[in-house]
Amino acid sequence: MRVLLVEDDEMIGRSLKQALEGAGWSADWVRDGELAQSALGDGGYTCVLLDLGLPKQDGTDVLRRARERGDATPVLVLTARDGLDDRINSLDLGADDYLLKPFEFRELLARMRAIVRRRDGAAHSLVGSGALQLDLTTREVLVNGAREALTAREFALLHALLERPGAILSREQLENRIYGWGEEVTSNAIDVLIHGMRRKLGAESIRNVRGLGWRVAA
Ligand code: CA
Repeated sequence: MRVLLVEDDEMIGRSLKQALEGAGWSADWVRDGELAQSALGDGGYTCVLLDLGLPKQDGTDVLRRARERGDATPVLVLTARDGLDDRINSLDLGADDYLLKPFEFRELLARMRAIVRRRDGAAHSLVGSGALQLDLTTREVLVNGAREALTAREFALLHALLERPGAILSREQLENRIYGWGEEVTSNAIDVLIHGMRRKLGAESIRNVRGLGWRVAA
């Protein structure tokens, strides 16, 4: 799963990026509001961690414009500001949650899981339907109720497909959801990943639609 980290503080940004990657997220880090705006425009993010006090464009402006464009990516506001008005304002503008700095990294991960889950329309940590379900907390897949462990990339790929069961996702859309900036993506990376997942989840778990992409059963 891919997260856009918007943070102008070098120390906080670097340590968050490192911790997120350690937790299996693919993290793209930008340091100002304009770059955040253009990264969001490219799409593909599972969620956004947004600082409010940013150079070039304030975090609240980034949020307002994203929502005006119809971008529904879950946003968790990270802020040192303890003003009640800032928190109320960002929630009213469409933030999904906020966390005051300094925070415990474990709490950040739990809040990220919670906003992604709500976007998926699930009150609990399972997303998916029928024979395939993903547990967002343990990052396991349930195949007809039996649990299987997934790698970070397998998890990201399956999460993208299970958000809209039946919908076809192209190679480019899947790559966009799995890999961050600057990551080497070989031309057959998705095929290799899906090949391995079919062995784990069953040959019919992920269907190829020739020339268009892949889908899971609705
Ligand atoms: Ca800041």
